[in-house]
Amino acid sequence: MSRRTIIAGNWKMNTRAAGGAQLAQGIADAVGENPTVEVVVCPPSVYLSRVGDVLAGSAVSLGAQNLYPAQDGAFTGEVNAAMLCDSGCRYVILGHSERRAILGETDAQISEKLAAALAGNLVPIVCVGETLEDRESGNTEAVVETQLRGSLEGLDEARASGVVIAYEPVWAIGTGKTASPEQAEEVHAFIRKLLGELFTEDVAQQMRIQYGGSVKPDNAKELLGQPNIDGALVGGASLKVDDFVAIINAG
Ligand code: PEP
Repeated sequence: MSRRTIIAGNWKMNTRAAGGAQLAQGIADAVGENPTVEVVVCPPSVYLSRVGDVLAGSAVSLGAQNLYPAQDGAFTGEVNAAMLCDSGCRYVILGHSERRAILGETDAQISEKLAAALAGNLVPIVCVGETLEDRESGNTEAVVETQLRGSLEGLDEARASGVVIAYEPVWAIGTGKTASPEQAEEVHAFIRKLLGELFTEDVAQQMRIQYGGSVKPDNAKELLGQPNIDGALVGGASLKVDDFVAIINAG
């Protein structure tokens, strides 16, 4: 089963209008159509349209960092799937560990967001991952399994193959500590096995699982070379054109 590699840049709450447009332009200029590697950038929501304009006609897709799972209405400060689509998004990151930890986002909320994303024709990137404490107490698989089961609750088997999973050990995000390729592959293989149980073996083989956590140009090739690692969700290194393009070229 060949799965198309997906490299996504999560800009988090970084950049300003002009700098974001410049960053997007640099990436768009450096990335050509590639049947084996797909590239996504996820700027802050206020800059989606502007970055989308820069990316128009390029090989780089636009993604959002979150959505609110409701139709229009009294949800002050929130943005829904239809608005993201309207702004040119094709992807949306859901359940990033920063949202889980800082904003208290739960698996149940993430599963609602997942349903809203799919109903709105967005491709969800669902994040899971253990803390250092979880890992050191031998609970990595249990934590990842609970997050996956909860976040994917209600997901129809027919739509599952279009969902992207991002395994992001919390202890490796923004810390400079990367999971070794073997550590990452072990969890990715576990996730794929679990997806086979939740859906079918065939669906599990089609689903893409990204690794995230201090992915840099110098570790990308080895990580992306693992059999169950189908891409990367990149934070810090996605804010520099040269670093992000080097990671893309490693895919
Ligand atoms: C992330 O934001 O999802 C991430 C993995 O960040 P970093 O690459 O900076 O660790």
